[in-house]
Amino acid sequence: MKNSDLMKRKEKSMPNGFAIGFPFFADRAKNSEIWDVEGNRYIDFIGGISVLNTGHTHPKITEAVKAQLDKFSHTATQIVGYENIITLAEKVCEKAPISGAKKAVFFSTGSEAVENAVKIARAATKRFGVIAFDAGYHGRTIYTLALTGKVAPYKQDFGVMPGGIFRIPFPVASFGVTEEASLIALEKLFKTDIAPTDVAAIIFEPVQGEGGFHFMPPSFAKKLREIADKYGIKIICDEVQCGYGRTGTFFATEQLGIEPDLMTTAKSLAGGYPLSGVVGKADIMDSVSPGGLGGTYAGSPVAVAAALAVFDVFKEENLLQRSKEIGEKIAAFLSGLKSKGGAFKRIGEIRHRGAMLAFDLLDAHGKADADVTKNLVLDARDHGLMLASCGLFGNSIRIMVPLTVEENILDEGLGILEKSLATVLK
Ligand code: PMP
Repeated sequence: MKNSDLMKRKEKSMPNGFAIGFPFFADRAKNSEIWDVEGNRYIDFIGGISVLNTGHTHPKITEAVKAQLDKFSHTATQIVGYENIITLAEKVCEKAPISGAKKAVFFSTGSEAVENAVKIARAATKRFGVIAFDAGYHGRTIYTLALTGKVAPYKQDFGVMPGGIFRIPFPVASFGVTEEASLIALEKLFKTDIAPTDVAAIIFEPVQGEGGFHFMPPSFAKKLREIADKYGIKIICDEVQCGYGRTGTFFATEQLGIEPDLMTTAKSLAGGYPLSGVVGKADIMDSVSPGGLGGTYAGSPVAVAAALAVFDVFKEENLLQRSKEIGEKIAAFLSGLKSKGGAFKRIGEIRHRGAMLAFDLLDAHGKADADVTKNLVLDARDHGLMLASCGLFGNSIRIMVPLTVEENILDEGLGILEKSLATVLK
């Protein structure tokens, strides 16, 4: 089988809107490596877009899934429940950085988790408004697309978005957006667009993912919490991308020093299987009437079996510690390159919490350089390393390598990264 033949078949049978980023097709994958149908090997620094914190085909997870497949693969959880999903709810509640009684519910995708978190906040407050942030990403369904703060490529072809969503700037020092400026925008919003008493929720990513791996300052989160408490607004932390150990703590929210009312989770929750969830304060979670939450595949037993195994892998392989080590190592490596000077000076800000690490690429005048970032992705790919870009200006590279990555594979990947940087920056 040839990659080029498969691409031709894809182009004939699948729409252009569903673009496939890399021109090769997977045959098999193991931990941090993927082999394509022609036998070429790639080191994977994308991890299925932050889904594979426990790596590709982790034997423990595969074993748990196989055991579940021999029992049953689907009951429709709202019709016939099963013990594993209750165990998972208990475990996710235990981990969530929210005090008091908690409850959790499961769906399939991150977008669904976000939609349902908003539904719960609306039911709890009997209000309709939701405030989101510039460059935030919350999904591709029409409502979550409206929450998502980036036009191209996500929203551009789809016309008017659902209403009741308001947006303020996310404080990013390097963009010149201070915490104060974001708070002033919020105050202004309450005067010009929506009364705070009509706002059901403020939703944000503790670390913006698609937006460029920008970390919400804890002091800002504290202010948001105070404002939310003053007006009875619920805080939703979207942990779909930054959760599950990526930042060195189980949930990134732990580093904010505030408690959210609701939290969404997905991606690495089930180590490669489609599963998402909402966890939150029990009274808020219970404000939806019976039957108001669900979905045919919500909480698939197969994905839930994987999710339970993910907890074991985290513990046995000490992945939170590993996340910190990986982040430190890559940050030191990039700082080392930058300090070599010459063209490497065009490596801009390097930011990370644990292994949630991104770096910017700049042009000779210190401005965002999306073209060189694209070239880096292409050059690295041609040398066997998969990299993903992100950010409002398309000039950040984000590293989402599995936390289970072997040291020698990580080193090999960084070696390719160095060579590709040297090639595209010169
Ligand atoms: N929220 C965040 C923070 C995300 O990063 C994503 C996916 N990139 C989503 C929601 C949507 O998840 P999904 O693609 O599984 O619907």
